[in-house]
Amino acid sequence: MTFLQALFASPRRWFSVHGREQKIKDYIALSNQLIWKRQASFLAAAILAAFYFDPSSVVLCYAFVVFSEILDLRLGSVAANWDGRNRAVGRAILWRITINTLISATAISIFSVNMAIQQTSGGHFTPLFLLFSASVFAAMHNSQMIGILLLRLGIYGIAFLTIALLDVMRELPAFSSPIWLEFFTVIFVLYFLCDISIKFNQGYRERYQQLRRIEQEHARAKAALEIKTRFLATVSHELRTPLTSIIGSLELINGNRLGAVPDNLKPAITIAARNARRLADLVEDLLDMQKIEAGEMVFDLHPISVNTLAIEAAESIAGYASNFGIVVETDLCAQDALIAGDRKRLIQVMNNMLSNAIKFSEKGGTVTVQVETFGQRTRVSVHDHGQGIPDGARESVFGRFTQVDSSDIRKVGGTGLGLNISKLIVEQHGGLIDYTSELGVGSTFFVEFDRLIGDADTDDGGPYLSQVA
Ligand code: ADP
Repeated sequence: MTFLQALFASPRRWFSVHGREQKIKDYIALSNQLIWKRQASFLAAAILAAFYFDPSSVVLCYAFVVFSEILDLRLGSVAANWDGRNRAVGRAILWRITINTLISATAISIFSVNMAIQQTSGGHFTPLFLLFSASVFAAMHNSQMIGILLLRLGIYGIAFLTIALLDVMRELPAFSSPIWLEFFTVIFVLYFLCDISIKFNQGYRERYQQLRRIEQEHARAKAALEIKTRFLATVSHELRTPLTSIIGSLELINGNRLGAVPDNLKPAITIAARNARRLADLVEDLLDMQKIEAGEMVFDLHPISVNTLAIEAAESIAGYASNFGIVVETDLCAQDALIAGDRKRLIQVMNNMLSNAIKFSEKGGTVTVQVETFGQRTRVSVHDHGQGIPDGARESVFGRFTQVDSSDIRKVGGTGLGLNISKLIVEQHGGLIDYTSELGVGSTFFVEFDRLIGDADTDDGGPYLSQVA
C-alpha cells in the first residue's frame, strides 16, 4: 500500500493481516527496541515543561503519555511471541496497535497543546518543536505500517493546526501580522512532514521488496543445490558398483589369473586399471563429501595411539610410494599419546597427506611421518622435499575441487577434494590441519589433536564415543 492508497483504504483493508505479517513484526520489533529512547525523550520534555509551565497540568499530561507507553510495552511483549501464522492473533495485534497509536498520539498532542495554551505570547516554539520531533520520529520509525503512521501524523497535524490557530483566534490579527506568518510556517512544516514520511515509507518498501527478492532467490538457489546434491549422490552410488567390478576384473587380468596376458595388451590394461582407480577415488571422495554435508558421516571414536597411527599410515602407503620411487620413513615420539579418533577416517586423512607428499616429490626422494607431543596436544606431520606451495595458496589447497596448479601441464592427477575432506574430518575430531611450505624446498602438512588424559584402553577395546558429523 502506498501513502495515498493507505489514505483512502477501507477500514477492512487496514486490519487485514494477509501479506503484512513481516511488516507488523518489523513494527513491533522496532517499537520494542526504541522503548527506552522514547521514555528518555518524554521524561526530559516533561521536566523541562514542569519547570516553565504549570507543573500540575504537565504531570497530568505526562501521566497520560506514560499510560500510553505502558500499553505499548505490554503489546510489545505479547506481539514479540507471535509467529506470524495465526491471523486472528495478527488482527488483534493490529487493533491494539491502532488503539495504542490513537491514545499515544492524542497524549503527546495534549501535552504540546497544553503548553501552547499556557503561553500567552511568543511563537509557541517549544510545543511546536516537540510535535515536530515526535512527527519526524514517527516518520522515521513507523514507515512499516503506513496506515498507523497516517493515523499518528493526522492527530499531530490537528495538534499543529490547533496551536497555530490559537493566537489567530485569540487576537484576530490583521493579515500582515507575524501571527499569520507563523500560521503559514506551520502549514509549510506540515507539508514537509508529509513529504519526509512518504520518502521514509518508499525507502522501507524498497528495502522490504529487496529482502523478499533475496529470500526468493535464496530459496530457489537452495532448491537447485538440493537437486544437484541428490543427483550427484545418486550418480556416485550408481557408478560405485560397476566401477568396483571393472577394477576387480582388470586386476584379475593383470595378475594373469584369467590366463597369460599378451604383451601388446598389457600397457592398455594397466592404463585402464589406473584410470578406473582414479575414477573410483573420485566417486569415494564425492560420496564422503555428501555424507559430511548431510551430517551422515558417523565417527566411531576410540582411544588411538598416535605412534601406531603413523606406522600404519606409512605402511599402507609404502606400495604406492615405491611406484613413484619414494621412501617413506617414520620419526615416532618417545612419549606416545592417545587421542579420541575414528581410526578409518584418520588413516584416510594420513593417506591423503602422504599421497600428496609422494605425488609432489621428485623420484628418489624421502617423505617422513613425524609424531610430536607437547603439553596437552599431539601433532602428526608429513614432511616432503618436493616442489612446495607458493604463498597465498591456502584457499586452493583446502578448497573444494581446487588445486594450486590446475593447468594442463600438471603432471599428477587428483580431484582437488582430498584435503577439503581431510579438513572436515579433522575438524569433526576437534583438531586442526595446516601446512608450512617453501617453494622448491618442500612442504610439511600436519594435523594436531588434544591428547586423551588418563589411561584409557586403545581401540582394541569397546566403542569409546560415537558422533555423527
Ligand atoms: P588433489 O586430489 O589434487 O591432490 P588435495 O585436496 O589433496 O587434492 O590437494 C589440493 C592441492 O594442494 C593439490 O592439488 C596441490 O596443488 C596442493 N598440495 C597438496 N599437498 C601438497 C604437497 N605436499 N606439495 C605440493 N602441493 C601440495
